[in-house]
Amino acid sequence: MNKPLPINLIDFNIGVGKGKPLTINGEKRSCPFCNVGTLTDIIDTKEDMIFLKNKYIVLEPSDQFVLIEGADCNSDMNLYTPEKMTSLISFGISHWLKLWETGKYKAVLFFKNYGPLSGGTIHHPHMQIVGLPVIDPDLMFSTDEFEGIPVATESGVEINVATRPRIGFSEINILVKKQFTASDISSPQAYETLSALAHYIQSSVTFLKDFFKRENFSYNIFFYLLDGCIRVKLLPRFATSPLYIGYSIHLKPTNLADTAEKLRTYI
Ligand SMILES: [Zn+2]
Repeated sequence: MNKPLPINLIDFNIGVGKGKPLTINGEKRSCPFCNVGTLTDIIDTKEDMIFLKNKYIVLEPSDQFVLIEGADCNSDMNLYTPEKMTSLISFGISHWLKLWETGKYKAVLFFKNYGPLSGGTIHHPHMQIVGLPVIDPDLMFSTDEFEGIPVATESGVEINVATRPRIGFSEINILVKKQFTASDISSPQAYETLSALAHYIQSSVTFLKDFFKRENFSYNIFFYLLDGCIRVKLLPRFATSPLYIGYSIHLKPTNLADTAEKLRTYI
């Protein structure tokens, strides 16, 4: 007989979830991230970016944080200057690594939801960091999900198109070969690597938005630490395949080489 598959199961507080503001589908409500004066529990700021505690702690137990990417509600990563993009990635990674280094958590998640199919509820460009004290990190991802058709390499950063996608279709992986601590992030040595990483993330977002030309295009970006090295995964989001939802069957598109070729022209 089939053995139960080990999984991570975490409590989601429905009462808290119901109170969350929703601005993702163009609802005419005021955006909480535009009303900077009303924000509380701000931890750090850099240029027009704000890192603060999330008001709505839905995951239990957890510590949840929000990184507001800038003042412009309708902007996104494909529209930032390269300098702004590097600054954002450095700011986010330094806070993410700082939380890892507290030793309080089994895992610290760092991710971005963009668009109505991404799972996000707020339209204003932002990222999230979540510290989880009770979780089995070995069940969160596997090394082979970061393997793929090579697209480019620069300053110790590699980009590929996944050949073992976590869900299906075109998933883009970015692999940083060097290890960093939170205090390394502001060093001149780290700058070259982080700007290459920021460039690859930005190019991938631009590519995905061009490639899947549609209104309400949605995507996720996930950051991982694998043996101390940063891994990033970008996924376009659609209605999730029933084969995956019902049967855990991952879909590998037959045009991966073509996707890698097209992505290369954006780098
Ligand atoms: Zn806003």
